Amino acid sequence: FLPKAKLLTDLALFLEPLKTAHRTPTSDDLAKAIREKQLFLAFQPQVDLQHALQQDQIIGVEALARWQNPERGVLYPDSFISLAEQSGLMIPLTWYVIELALQQQAQWLFQGWNLNLSINITAAFIQEEGMLEVFDKLTQQHQAVLNRLTLELTETVGVECLSYASHVLNALRDRGCKIASDDFGTGHSSLTQLYRLPFNELKIDRSFVSLIDQDQDALVITESIIDLGKRLGLTVVAEGIETAAQHAMLVEAGCAVGQGYFISRPLTAGAFSAWMCERSQSAITAQNESMLAR
Ligand code: C2E
Ligand code: MG
Ligand code: MG
Ligand code: MG
Repeated sequence: FLPKAKLLTDLALFLEPLKTAHRTPTSDDLAKAIREKQLFLAFQPQVDLQHALQQDQIIGVEALARWQNPERGVLYPDSFISLAEQSGLMIPLTWYVIELALQQQAQWLFQGWNLNLSINITAAFIQEEGMLEVFDKLTQQHQAVLNRLTLELTETVGVECLSYASHVLNALRDRGCKIASDDFGTGHSSLTQLYRLPFNELKIDRSFVSLIDQDQDALVITESIIDLGKRLGLTVVAEGIETAAQHAMLVEAGCAVGQGYFISRPLTAGAFSAWMCERSQSAITAQNESMLAR
């Protein structure tokens, strides 16, 4: 079993950097991809950075869209998310992603894994008329565990839409979902949004996190965001942790949750299962060793 697990992880690691396509996909290609269900999800683990005993224990995963293109292989969000936005396909794409995520949640629950699942949504999605009704139907259909779902808002909401957006996000919170402010620090009005929208979680953008071990200003900004989030009662998540030094600095700065290549790359569902099994195996080995050492 273990060699196979290793193989799946290696395969996922191998696929991840192939982020270039031969020809830029068109909106027709993407519409077809949605119709013909060519999208799938990769899952990136999010771990606890703080509690000494549980340190690096998995608390959830972020679902990231991937496109299995018949001609070009696996395509990554940088080659289709803005295309979806420009061509009015973002809403159907988001429903599709949510459906895939809910199917995966049901399967993990069946396996006994009660993981929190984070899904990326956009401003247009929360402003879509009738969105909550469809959301209710879909989540009921899949018997979703709503208090184990986080919706990450990845895009800046226009000032004129803040009160409506706030109403919708509150309605989602009433259903048990958590709401995250994604890529915090990069938007035009991050602080206004933080003030006006009912977030539970704040994700520090990778552009800061990736520099904290090299650049004093990036560290000061990151520490200040952690402090700000804590004082507002939010869970602070650092994204894009790539090195042991960054990891250690975030632990030291009191950041609650971490995500990044240092912990794990985004993995296919199969590779994620293997990763989970390998980790629990090594946790048991470590436990046995510490018992023998006593
Ligand atoms: P995001 O939500 O900020 O997701 C994190 C991105 O950073 C992912 O890229 C992930 O693979 C990458 N990443 C994670 N850890 C590291 C690291 O340590 N180093 C580096 N260099 N990168 C890291 P990905 O999968 O290419 O997604 C890019 C963006 O596309 C996402 O950024 C999100 O905004 C958007 N996206 C992905 N899936 C969806 C989706 O289903 N719906 C919507 N609306 N947007 C999505
Ligand atoms: Mg995200
Ligand atoms: Mg992010
Ligand atoms: Mg980001």
